[in-house]
Amino acid sequence: MIYLKTREELELMRESAQCVSRTLGMLAKEIKEGVELKRLDKLAEEFIREMGGVPSFKGYPGPTPFPASLCLSINEQVVHGIPGDRVVKDGDILAVDCGVFKNGFHGDHAYTFCIGNVKPEVRKMVEVTKESLYKGIEQVTANNRIGDISYAIQQHAESHGYGVVRELVGHGLGRHLHEDPQVPNYGRRGTGPKLRDGMVIAIEPMINLGKKEVRTLSDKWTIVTRDGLPSAHFEHDVALIDGKAEILSTFDYVEEALGILKSAN
Ligand code: MG
Ligand code: MG
Repeated sequence: MIYLKTREELELMRESAQCVSRTLGMLAKEIKEGVELKRLDKLAEEFIREMGGVPSFKGYPGPTPFPASLCLSINEQVVHGIPGDRVVKDGDILAVDCGVFKNGFHGDHAYTFCIGNVKPEVRKMVEVTKESLYKGIEQVTANNRIGDISYAIQQHAESHGYGVVRELVGHGLGRHLHEDPQVPNYGRRGTGPKLRDGMVIAIEPMINLGKKEVRTLSDKWTIVTRDGLPSAHFEHDVALIDGKAEILSTFDYVEEALGILKSAN
């Protein structure tokens, strides 16, 4: 069942999404060579609670309750990496996925950071993954369907020869972290549920440098590429309001911290 949000609810959702955005911006200054992943997780949890939010991911039900506030996925890890004592190294890419629950609604979005001397082909894959997110968002208009978003993401990623992960998908967002509809990163134009005013979806391409296949590690959470090649992940929370896409989250805090021009947003 797809829950359409009222104006008031959309404003609360924007606040939750912005809490995630600010958390990612805070982390952008901390993510550097030598930082331990569990330190980033601790900083994020404190920051979220200071804003009056609760980390959406901590205790999230699964094979075991998710033990942390962030999903931190390095290199060949696609998503759902558990922050531990691993340290960030020069040349790594780190996908940071964060969720905040506040005023009864969740925000959920993600950014992939390049640390130091990342190989050009990997950096390119990270850029194209971000571009594919915006290609998907362009399709969020009245009269379009979920499949239009899926198709646009898949086309862009595959045109560069990358693998598009099938097993994990974007989703509706609201009072629950995962609501209907599912938002796959692959699919056919004109298929799937119709987009309607008041819908909020988390669009989140997971794109592999190599093949699309993934597997789960023995910790039962971490998803990695089967071929061991790196993978990137970007996620925005997007609402359809008056027939137009509105991105409730923002990468502005991150890109300000990184000193990147904001033109891509
Ligand atoms: Mg999500
Ligand atoms: Mg997420």
